[in-house]
Amino acid sequence: MGYTIDLHTHSLRSDGAQPAAEVVRSAAARGVCVLALADHDTLAGIAEASEAGGAAGVRIIAATELNTESAWGDVHVLGYFLDPADAALEERLRWLRENRGRRIELMVENLRRLGYPVPLERVVAIAQGGSLGRPHLAQALFEAGHVRSYDAAFETLIAKDAPGYVARVGLTPVEAVRLVREHGGVPSLAHPFTARDLDALVPELAASGLAGIECYYGEHTPAMTAACLALARRFDLVPTGGSDHHGRGEHGAPLGGVFVPPETIGALEARRAYHPPQVAGPR
Ligand SMILES: [Zn+2]
Ligand SMILES: [Zn+2]
Repeated sequence: MGYTIDLHTHSLRSDGAQPAAEVVRSAAARGVCVLALADHDTLAGIAEASEAGGAAGVRIIAATELNTESAWGDVHVLGYFLDPADAALEERLRWLRENRGRRIELMVENLRRLGYPVPLERVVAIAQGGSLGRPHLAQALFEAGHVRSYDAAFETLIAKDAPGYVARVGLTPVEAVRLVREHGGVPSLAHPFTARDLDALVPELAASGLAGIECYYGEHTPAMTAACLALARRFDLVPTGGSDHHGRGEHGAPLGGVFVPPETIGALEARRAYHPPQVAGPR
């Protein structure tokens, strides 16, 4: 039996479809020994996941995924080994969640004006208390009969270039990396190919404390994985990986379905100690 690792999963606490405990139990059934629950902008599922992990023999790594939208494209930063009891961190995450909610409200309003009404209450109900995201809105649009499938919503009404779309406000990629570092976590760049101009972005993030890069990902071709591994070597980053499981079969891999080398965990742990580069002061 292999030593199966999945460092990128989501639950109902953000835009996943399963309760955190169920994600852990499904992972255990698939042979996963180490699982990072990385719900967007929240650590709210960690306690539940850890309890289920204790019962099922799965080590849970407390994580979150911070999404940013900027001229760099979609830069998502995974933060590992964060502390759910860190009140200052929770304050920052709450601000991000509120922005997320506000953005979905604005999209609901746009869609209503465009002739595709969905009740905001229904979107909130679908999220079941998790931080609001486009997947919840897509589900509501599907239920209301405005699109023929959940995926079709993403391709049409709430696609990035659609009139219903509202861009996210929040952190820049560098701010996301720094936020993770300021709270003792280890940041890794998720699915790097959703970002633009990696050759310029990665050194900038590495200078701000980036420690990992998600090389192993269900949607990667072998050439994409190789390109990420080359960036990892060049900028001294730990190659990370995971399924990006949301429970709806997206992102090309089931839970534990992406091979992540066993030495990854130790390598990430070794990056917890971080000393920001010294800025020369006035003399
Ligand atoms: Zn992501
Ligand atoms: Zn994700």
